Amino acid sequence: AAKQTGEPVRRWTPALDERAGEFVRLGAEIRAALDHDQFRVVYQPIVELPSGRVAAVEALVRWEHPVRGVVSPAAFIPVAERNGLIVELGEWILRTACRQLAEWRATLGDRAPERVSVNVSARQLARPQFAATVAAALADSGLPASRLAVEVTETAVFEGGQAVTALHELRALGVRIALDDFGTGHSSLGLLQTVPVDILKVDKSFVDNVTQAGRHTVIAEALFQVSTGLGLSAVAEGVETAEQADALHRLGYRYLQGYYYGRPVAEPDFALSAAIAAGS
Ligand code: C2E
Ligand code: CA
Ligand code: CA
Ligand code: CA
Repeated sequence: AAKQTGEPVRRWTPALDERAGEFVRLGAEIRAALDHDQFRVVYQPIVELPSGRVAAVEALVRWEHPVRGVVSPAAFIPVAERNGLIVELGEWILRTACRQLAEWRATLGDRAPERVSVNVSARQLARPQFAATVAAALADSGLPASRLAVEVTETAVFEGGQAVTALHELRALGVRIALDDFGTGHSSLGLLQTVPVDILKVDKSFVDNVTQAGRHTVIAEALFQVSTGLGLSAVAEGVETAEQADALHRLGYRYLQGYYYGRPVAEPDFALSAAIAAGS
């Protein structure tokens, strides 16, 4: 008997079946990887100009798969988001990153970065317990709340609701909020009126051609003006060359992140990154 729900009929083709099989298989592997400690967190410097000091680091997850080698988060984060495992994985990443910065502060003193920035997915942010989870990670690691930033994307917050409530709760704890991939969403500027934000991460796509006078340069400059006008700090992402760094610095950017300053690694050399920046 045909269903009366009015939902479109989805044909179960072999191709769909294969993709569904792959989804289930990868999901089960992520579960096993969590149990077998196959995830690592790496850290990419965010450099402050003109000093070249490593002001902050962004935590990025890696999966060290016993057979496939290092698996990109672009391949497994979307699966973990869909099957819900991102909640457990994300909490592990958050706790690991807080513990790591607390340890660097204890061992490196002034040379430790001021802040660690942790990516948080929509699924985590939608949970009413999220702010309490963050508070517990801070308490257990001993990291002050002001030393943590969470990076959220526009799509995670644009529907408002619990996600925006969570951001207000995090702000009240003293955690900074960074809007990731800024400028690539549907409602970037509108969001700034309703969502509590401290940091705009200007997407790599605006940085790529910033050395050629053209629309990317105009947009990169406009995004910087918006951030300063609103009293936010701007971080330019995906800086790969000295020329891009110079162009961004001339537009006013003070915080830059990208392969030019350092790739994400387990133990960034904070002193070396500073030397590269100072020499530019
Ligand atoms: P994202 O948050 O926008 O992270 C920046 C990505 O750009 C990282 O890729 C980083 O390695 C890469 N990148 C940095 N500088 C450069 C550069 O100069 N050139 C180029 N070509 N790439 C650069 P990664 O680590 O592969 O992560 C990809 C995405 O996966 C992230 O994009 C983020 O959306 C997601 N992701 C990574 N780690 C986590 C995590 O711990 N939790 C969650 N929820 N998502 C994560
Ligand atoms: Ca990010
Ligand atoms: Ca980004
Ligand atoms: Ca991205």
